[in-house]
Amino acid sequence: MNVGIIGGGIMGISLGYFLSQQGVHVEIFEASPTLGGLAGPLILDDGTSVDRFYHAILSSDSHLSELCMELGIADRLRFRETKMGFYYDGAIYSMNSMMEFLRFPPLGWIDRFRLGLTVLNAQFVRDWHELEGVSVQDWLVRWSGQRTYENIWRPMLKAKFDGNYADAPATYIWSRLVRMKSTRSGANQKEEAGHLIGGYLTLIRAMAERIEAAGGQIHLRCPVQEIAIENGRAVGIRRDGAVQPYDAVVATVQAPIFRRLIPGASTEYQDYLGKTDYLGIIAPLLVLNRPLTGYWTLNITDDRIPFTGVVETTTFIDPQYVGGHHLVYLPKYTAPDSAWQKMSDDEIRKVWLENLKAMFPDFDPKSVQYFLVNRERYVEPLHLLNSTHLIPSIETPVRNLYLATTAQIYPALTNGESVSRHARQAAEVVTASRQQEYEGISDHQSTLALEGTGNR
Ligand SMILES: Cc1cc2nc3c(=O)[nH]c(=O)nc-3n(C[C@H](O)[C@H](O)[C@H](O)COP(=O)(O)OP(=O)(O)OC[C@H]3O[C@@H](n4cnc5c(N)ncnc54)[C@H](O)[C@@H]3O)c2cc1C
Repeated sequence: MNVGIIGGGIMGISLGYFLSQQGVHVEIFEASPTLGGLAGPLILDDGTSVDRFYHAILSSDSHLSELCMELGIADRLRFRETKMGFYYDGAIYSMNSMMEFLRFPPLGWIDRFRLGLTVLNAQFVRDWHELEGVSVQDWLVRWSGQRTYENIWRPMLKAKFDGNYADAPATYIWSRLVRMKSTRSGANQKEEAGHLIGGYLTLIRAMAERIEAAGGQIHLRCPVQEIAIENGRAVGIRRDGAVQPYDAVVATVQAPIFRRLIPGASTEYQDYLGKTDYLGIIAPLLVLNRPLTGYWTLNITDDRIPFTGVVETTTFIDPQYVGGHHLVYLPKYTAPDSAWQKMSDDEIRKVWLENLKAMFPDFDPKSVQYFLVNRERYVEPLHLLNSTHLIPSIETPVRNLYLATTAQIYPALTNGESVSRHARQAAEVVTASRQQEYEGISDHQSTLALEGTGNR
């Protein structure tokens, strides 16, 4: 079986790896000059390779750690105790233990207790389906109370959803609270975050090597123009005007990109794909010559500040692995067509640095060695209330065509762990469905052969 895969991010490369392991020949096409997609690297002017967007691996990411063992790169995983904080009304509050929760000044003691209860309650939800039809706002007000909602949750939701959180289901906050709780290990419940030396690219390269060792091919700088569809069946991949034939094609890109690649599919299916919404992101990276906050993540509950948080990844990545630099990301989630996405890099730099200075009066702009504005339009799939029927399946209405994309990961969050796990599942779906197809063909051929001999 010869399978063409579109996209060389974690999904595409994991899928290629799992398929190769089953003896499938794969050929992967990646549009950009490097593998990794959203989890890919950025090369600084001084030659240092750093994550384009902030990435952490959690100690509870069991699929990833097994994968690293299997690939012989587990010794490159590093974990460190980290701190999480809140920026509220001009001050930073550490929020790493129940005691800190209970001391959080902006809230009365009943509010603090209810905030703790909200986190605890999320751990006891057994069936997430019951949260599917409950709005995140209603759920948070019910558990945390109106004052905590107004002071903490509402500004965070507003920032995260670029204002459009009215139709977001409670599964959104539930999966986040469960994932964050899972990082706390040991009796003292310390929070840990980790990374691979060299970033996710280390994992991606290790899988790419195995794919190539099994005879597969990976092509960089190869944007696919179209998936060729004839008589309701995918027959190959069109690049530079020519169609390269495959037994099956798997796209691992986001739904709006996939939609543009399949002009030969029915308009009904294309319209269906068009219903999947995404959030985009603007995430400037500040490369500093000194630490900034000491917190892995500082959540900002002040909605006058344009960015959602301050994420300092060198609190868990030893700066020695990133050229001695300190890396701080200042993300802002946006609607894909938001006016923020249209601002120039210089405008963003000005607004972001002004706000950073307002937050940290001691911040010295001379500490900034590089200020790099990274942005993407389709980053995180948006699932609205009662909308699971809009999640596209791996098998598509076009025969021999499959879709493995982050929008299918729900209610889990999309991250390296869930994406690579999903790719393994997609590989199983592809091989099982191909097997059925061949059995169908061979049954049909045996029937024809029997018919040919007149033997019924
Ligand atoms: C700001 C931010 C923070 C994050 N934080 C974390 C974190 O802490 N931990 C974590 O584990 N995960 C994190 N993630 C999530 C993680 O990066 C993604 O879930 C994951 O990288 C998605 O991988 P993917 O392969 O599905 O998609 P992508 O990475 O988008 O890969 C799709 C690939 O397809 C290629 N492509 C598109 N069109 C074509 C075409 N026509 N032809 C050929 N190739 C094409 C693209 O160039 C791209 O490389 C974060 C993401 C962001 C944006």
